[in-house]
Amino acid sequence: MKKQSLMAFLLLCAALCVCACGKKPKDNEIDYYKKVGSYDDPDDSLYQASDKDLELIGEVTPGEKKDPTATPTPTPIPEYVIVIDPGHGGSQVGSSYDGREEKKLNLQRATLLKNYLETHYDHITVYMTRTTDEGLSKDLTEDLRKRVEFAAEKHADILVSLHLNASDNHKKNGATVCISKQPNIHDNSEKLATCILSRLATLGIKNNGPLLRDSNDTKDENGVPVDYYAICRHGAANNVIAVIVESCHMDNATDIEFIKTEAALSAMAEQEAIGIMEFLTKYYVRQ
Ligand SMILES: [Zn+2]
Repeated sequence: MKKQSLMAFLLLCAALCVCACGKKPKDNEIDYYKKVGSYDDPDDSLYQASDKDLELIGEVTPGEKKDPTATPTPTPIPEYVIVIDPGHGGSQVGSSYDGREEKKLNLQRATLLKNYLETHYDHITVYMTRTTDEGLSKDLTEDLRKRVEFAAEKHADILVSLHLNASDNHKKNGATVCISKQPNIHDNSEKLATCILSRLATLGIKNNGPLLRDSNDTKDENGVPVDYYAICRHGAANNVIAVIVESCHMDNATDIEFIKTEAALSAMAEQEAIGIMEFLTKYYVRQ
Protein backbone atom coordinates (compact mmCIF):
# COMPACT_ATOMS: atom_id res chain seq x y z
CA MET A 1 0.00 0.00 0.00
CA LYS A 2 1.31 3.44 -0.96
CA LYS A 3 2.17 5.85 1.82
CA GLN A 4 -0.67 8.23 0.90
CA SER A 5 -3.25 5.43 0.77
CA LEU A 6 -1.97 4.08 4.06
CA MET A 7 -2.40 7.48 5.72
CA ALA A 8 -5.91 7.81 4.30
CA PHE A 9 -6.78 4.34 5.54
CA LEU A 10 -5.47 5.06 9.03
CA LEU A 11 -7.33 8.39 9.20
CA LEU A 12 -10.52 6.68 8.09
CA CYS A 13 -10.12 3.99 10.74
CA ALA A 14 -9.66 6.67 13.41
CA ALA A 15 -12.71 8.57 12.16
CA LEU A 16 -14.86 5.44 12.09
CA CYS A 17 -13.66 4.54 15.56
CA VAL A 18 -14.63 7.96 16.94
CA CYS A 19 -18.00 7.73 15.24
CA ALA A 20 -18.65 4.21 16.49
CA CYS A 21 -17.75 5.22 20.03
CA GLY A 22 -20.38 7.92 19.97
CA LYS A 23 -23.14 5.65 18.69
CA LYS A 24 -25.28 4.55 21.54
CA PRO A 25 -26.81 1.24 20.40
CA LYS A 26 -23.36 -0.29 19.90
CA ASP A 27 -22.02 1.26 23.08
CA ASN A 28 -24.78 0.02 25.24
CA GLU A 29 -26.97 -2.77 23.98
CA ILE A 30 -29.62 -2.10 26.57
CA ASP A 31 -30.49 1.06 24.67
CA TYR A 32 -31.33 -1.15 21.73
CA TYR A 33 -34.33 -2.44 23.65
CA LYS A 34 -35.44 0.86 25.11
CA LYS A 35 -38.57 2.42 23.74
CA VAL A 36 -37.17 5.91 24.13
CA GLY A 37 -34.04 7.31 22.48
CA SER A 38 -33.11 4.19 20.58
CA TYR A 39 -32.55 3.46 16.93
CA ASP A 40 -34.24 6.31 15.15
CA ASP A 41 -31.71 8.87 16.30
CA PRO A 42 -31.43 11.43 13.46
CA ASP A 43 -27.74 11.80 14.29
CA ASP A 44 -27.22 8.28 12.98
CA SER A 45 -26.78 9.78 9.49
CA LEU A 46 -23.57 11.37 10.76
CA TYR A 47 -22.07 7.93 11.12
CA GLN A 48 -22.93 6.69 7.64
CA ALA A 49 -19.74 5.87 5.74
CA SER A 50 -19.63 7.25 2.17
CA ASP A 51 -19.05 5.02 -0.86
CA LYS A 52 -15.49 6.35 -0.99
CA ASP A 53 -14.96 5.33 2.63
CA LEU A 54 -16.29 1.87 1.87
CA GLU A 55 -13.89 1.57 -1.06
CA LEU A 56 -10.98 2.46 1.19
CA ILE A 57 -11.80 -0.16 3.77
CA GLY A 58 -12.55 -2.73 1.09
CA GLU A 59 -16.31 -2.94 1.67
CA VAL A 60 -16.92 -2.34 -2.03
CA THR A 61 -14.53 -2.60 -4.93
CA PRO A 62 -13.40 0.71 -6.53
CA GLY A 63 -15.97 2.12 -8.92
CA GLU A 64 -18.75 -0.03 -7.52
CA LYS A 65 -21.69 1.89 -6.04
CA LYS A 66 -23.98 0.78 -3.28
CA ASP A 67 -27.47 0.06 -4.62
CA PRO A 68 -29.59 2.79 -2.99
CA THR A 69 -32.78 0.74 -3.49
CA ALA A 70 -31.40 -2.37 -1.82
CA THR A 71 -33.18 -3.21 1.43
CA PRO A 72 -30.68 -3.93 4.19
CA THR A 73 -31.18 -7.32 5.78
CA PRO A 74 -32.60 -6.61 9.24
CA THR A 75 -30.88 -8.28 12.16
CA PRO A 76 -33.52 -10.30 14.02
CA ILE A 77 -34.14 -8.90 17.48
CA PRO A 78 -34.47 -11.60 20.13
CA GLU A 79 -37.70 -11.72 22.11
CA TYR A 80 -37.50 -12.45 25.80
CA VAL A 81 -40.06 -13.88 28.20
CA ILE A 82 -39.67 -12.73 31.79
CA VAL A 83 -41.68 -14.24 34.64
CA ILE A 84 -41.77 -12.29 37.89
CA ASP A 85 -42.76 -14.23 40.97
CA PRO A 86 -43.96 -12.21 43.97
CA GLY A 87 -42.83 -14.47 46.82
CA HIS A 88 -45.41 -15.97 49.25
CA GLY A 89 -49.08 -14.92 49.23
CA GLY A 90 -52.30 -15.96 50.98
CA SER A 91 -51.60 -17.74 54.26
CA GLN A 92 -47.86 -17.59 53.53
CA VAL A 93 -46.92 -14.14 54.78
CA GLY A 94 -43.15 -14.49 54.55
CA SER A 95 -41.27 -12.13 56.86
CA SER A 96 -43.13 -9.44 58.75
CA TYR A 97 -41.81 -6.52 60.72
CA ASP A 98 -43.09 -3.22 62.03
CA GLY A 99 -46.55 -3.74 60.52
CA ARG A 100 -45.24 -4.63 57.08
CA GLU A 101 -45.80 -8.01 55.44
CA GLU A 102 -43.36 -9.43 52.96
CA LYS A 103 -46.05 -11.03 50.75
CA LYS A 104 -47.71 -7.62 50.20
CA LEU A 105 -44.45 -5.79 49.53
CA ASN A 106 -43.39 -8.51 47.09
CA LEU A 107 -46.64 -8.13 45.13
CA GLN A 108 -46.32 -4.36 45.09
CA ARG A 109 -42.69 -4.54 43.93
CA ALA A 110 -43.43 -7.16 41.28
CA THR A 111 -46.18 -4.96 39.82
CA LEU A 112 -43.84 -1.97 39.75
CA LEU A 113 -41.12 -4.08 38.11
CA LYS A 114 -43.50 -5.42 35.43
CA ASN A 115 -44.80 -1.92 34.67
CA TYR A 116 -41.29 -0.48 34.45
CA LEU A 117 -40.12 -3.22 32.07
CA GLU A 118 -43.17 -2.90 29.82
CA THR A 119 -42.95 0.88 29.72
CA HIS A 120 -39.26 1.13 28.97
CA TYR A 121 -38.38 -1.90 26.83
CA ASP A 122 -39.62 -3.56 23.64
CA HIS A 123 -39.31 -7.21 22.57
CA ILE A 124 -40.18 -8.56 25.98
CA THR A 125 -43.21 -10.34 27.42
CA VAL A 126 -43.67 -10.15 31.16
CA TYR A 127 -45.86 -12.40 33.31
CA MET A 128 -46.46 -12.56 37.03
CA THR A 129 -47.10 -15.83 38.87
CA ARG A 130 -49.71 -14.11 41.03
CA THR A 131 -51.49 -10.76 40.88
CA THR A 132 -53.59 -11.10 44.04
CA ASP A 133 -52.95 -12.04 47.64
CA GLU A 134 -53.26 -15.74 46.82
CA GLY A 135 -50.53 -18.35 46.64
CA LEU A 136 -50.58 -20.99 43.89
CA SER A 137 -51.45 -23.73 46.36
CA LYS A 138 -52.22 -24.07 50.06
CA ASP A 139 -49.47 -26.67 50.19
CA LEU A 140 -46.06 -24.98 50.28
CA THR A 141 -44.22 -27.71 48.36
CA GLU A 142 -46.83 -27.67 45.60
CA ASP A 143 -46.97 -23.86 45.63
CA LEU A 144 -43.25 -23.52 44.89
CA ARG A 145 -43.33 -26.21 42.22
CA LYS A 146 -46.30 -24.54 40.50
CA ARG A 147 -44.52 -21.19 40.32
CA VAL A 148 -41.72 -22.75 38.29
CA GLU A 149 -44.14 -24.83 36.21
CA PHE A 150 -46.00 -21.61 35.36
CA ALA A 151 -42.71 -20.13 34.08
CA ALA A 152 -41.92 -23.30 32.09
CA GLU A 153 -45.40 -23.21 30.47
CA LYS A 154 -44.77 -19.63 29.39
CA HIS A 155 -41.38 -20.67 27.94
CA ALA A 156 -39.73 -18.16 30.23
CA ASP A 157 -36.13 -17.18 29.65
CA ILE A 158 -35.88 -16.21 33.29
CA LEU A 159 -37.92 -16.55 36.48
CA VAL A 160 -37.20 -13.84 39.04
CA SER A 161 -38.71 -14.59 42.43
CA LEU A 162 -38.90 -11.43 44.53
CA HIS A 163 -38.39 -11.63 48.28
CA LEU A 164 -37.27 -9.56 51.25
CA ASN A 165 -34.96 -10.92 53.89
CA ALA A 166 -35.00 -10.65 57.70
CA SER A 167 -32.74 -11.83 60.53
CA ASP A 168 -33.27 -12.81 64.16
CA ASN A 169 -31.42 -9.85 65.61
CA HIS A 170 -32.45 -7.42 62.83
CA LYS A 171 -28.79 -6.52 62.36
CA LYS A 172 -28.15 -8.09 58.95
CA ASN A 173 -28.55 -5.93 55.89
CA GLY A 174 -28.04 -5.99 52.15
CA ALA A 175 -29.14 -8.02 49.15
CA THR A 176 -28.40 -11.52 47.95
CA VAL A 177 -29.62 -13.66 45.05
CA CYS A 178 -30.06 -17.41 45.53
CA ILE A 179 -28.98 -19.41 42.48
CA SER A 180 -28.82 -23.05 41.40
CA LYS A 181 -25.59 -25.00 41.20
CA GLN A 182 -26.93 -27.21 38.41
CA PRO A 183 -24.78 -26.80 35.28
CA ASN A 184 -27.70 -26.23 32.87
CA ILE A 185 -28.70 -22.95 34.58
CA HIS A 186 -25.81 -22.08 36.92
CA ASP A 187 -23.73 -19.74 34.77
CA ASN A 188 -26.68 -17.75 33.46
CA SER A 189 -28.17 -17.58 36.98
CA GLU A 190 -24.91 -16.28 38.42
CA LYS A 191 -24.63 -13.58 35.76
CA LEU A 192 -28.26 -12.55 36.25
CA ALA A 193 -27.62 -12.37 40.00
CA THR A 194 -24.51 -10.23 39.49
CA CYS A 195 -26.35 -7.80 37.20
CA ILE A 196 -29.25 -7.34 39.63
CA LEU A 197 -27.02 -7.02 42.70
CA SER A 198 -24.79 -4.45 40.98
CA ARG A 199 -27.81 -2.32 40.12
CA LEU A 200 -29.23 -2.55 43.65
CA ALA A 201 -25.83 -1.43 44.94
CA THR A 202 -26.25 1.85 43.04
CA LEU A 203 -29.08 2.64 45.48
CA GLY A 204 -26.77 1.97 48.43
CA ILE A 205 -27.96 -1.58 49.12
CA LYS A 206 -25.06 -3.73 50.29
CA ASN A 207 -24.12 -6.43 47.78
CA ASN A 208 -23.85 -9.75 49.64
CA GLY A 209 -23.24 -11.63 46.39
CA PRO A 210 -24.97 -14.65 44.85
CA LEU A 211 -25.80 -17.50 47.22
CA LEU A 212 -25.50 -21.23 46.54
CA ARG A 213 -26.99 -23.48 49.19
CA ASP A 214 -27.16 -27.26 49.39
CA SER A 215 -30.10 -29.20 50.72
CA ASN A 216 -29.49 -30.56 54.23
CA ASP A 217 -31.07 -33.93 53.59
CA THR A 218 -31.92 -34.52 49.92
CA LYS A 219 -29.33 -35.95 47.56
CA ASP A 220 -29.42 -36.86 43.89
CA GLU A 221 -28.80 -40.33 42.45
CA ASN A 222 -25.03 -39.75 42.74
CA GLY A 223 -25.25 -38.85 46.42
CA VAL A 224 -24.68 -35.13 45.76
CA PRO A 225 -26.91 -32.75 47.74
CA VAL A 226 -29.51 -30.98 45.56
CA ASP A 227 -30.18 -27.25 45.67
CA TYR A 228 -31.72 -26.16 48.97
CA TYR A 229 -34.09 -23.62 47.44
CA ALA A 230 -37.08 -25.20 45.70
CA ILE A 231 -37.42 -22.40 43.12
CA CYS A 232 -33.80 -22.95 42.00
CA ARG A 233 -34.12 -26.74 42.16
CA HIS A 234 -37.31 -26.84 40.09
CA GLY A 235 -35.83 -24.21 37.77
CA ALA A 236 -32.94 -26.53 36.94
CA ALA A 237 -35.32 -29.49 36.50
CA ASN A 238 -37.48 -27.45 34.08
CA ASN A 239 -34.51 -25.80 32.34
CA VAL A 240 -35.64 -22.33 33.44
CA ILE A 241 -33.12 -19.84 34.83
CA ALA A 242 -34.77 -19.31 38.21
CA VAL A 243 -33.33 -17.03 40.89
CA ILE A 244 -34.56 -15.75 44.24
CA VAL A 245 -33.83 -12.06 44.74
CA GLU A 246 -33.69 -11.06 48.41
CA SER A 247 -33.57 -7.37 47.60
CA CYS A 248 -32.77 -6.14 51.14
CA HIS A 249 -33.58 -6.86 54.79
CA MET A 250 -37.03 -5.53 55.65
CA ASP A 251 -36.32 -5.57 59.41
CA ASN A 252 -33.06 -3.64 59.37
CA ALA A 253 -32.80 0.04 60.30
CA THR A 254 -30.57 0.84 57.31
CA ASP A 255 -32.40 -1.22 54.71
CA ILE A 256 -35.88 -0.13 55.74
CA GLU A 257 -35.28 3.11 53.85
CA PHE A 258 -35.34 1.11 50.60
CA ILE A 259 -38.89 -0.16 51.13
CA LYS A 260 -40.48 2.56 53.26
CA THR A 261 -42.22 4.52 50.53
CA GLU A 262 -43.73 3.94 47.10
CA ALA A 263 -40.94 6.08 45.63
CA ALA A 264 -38.30 3.88 47.29
CA LEU A 265 -39.98 0.71 46.01
CA SER A 266 -40.16 2.21 42.51
CA ALA A 267 -36.45 3.06 42.61
CA MET A 268 -35.70 -0.54 43.59
CA ALA A 269 -37.91 -1.92 40.81
CA GLU A 270 -36.24 0.36 38.28
CA GLN A 271 -32.75 -0.89 39.17
CA GLU A 272 -33.91 -4.51 39.14
CA ALA A 273 -35.41 -3.97 35.68
CA ILE A 274 -32.17 -2.46 34.36
CA GLY A 275 -30.19 -5.35 35.86
CA ILE A 276 -32.51 -7.91 34.23
CA MET A 277 -32.26 -6.25 30.82
CA GLU A 278 -28.51 -5.87 31.18
CA PHE A 279 -28.27 -9.62 31.72
CA LEU A 280 -30.59 -10.53 28.84
CA THR A 281 -28.95 -8.24 26.29
CA LYS A 282 -25.30 -8.58 27.31
CA TYR A 283 -24.68 -11.89 29.04
CA TYR A 284 -27.53 -14.32 28.45
CA VAL A 285 -26.53 -17.48 26.62
CA ARG A 286 -29.61 -19.37 25.42
CA GLN A 287 -29.20 -23.10 26.06
ZN1 LIG B 1 -39.59 -14.49 51.28
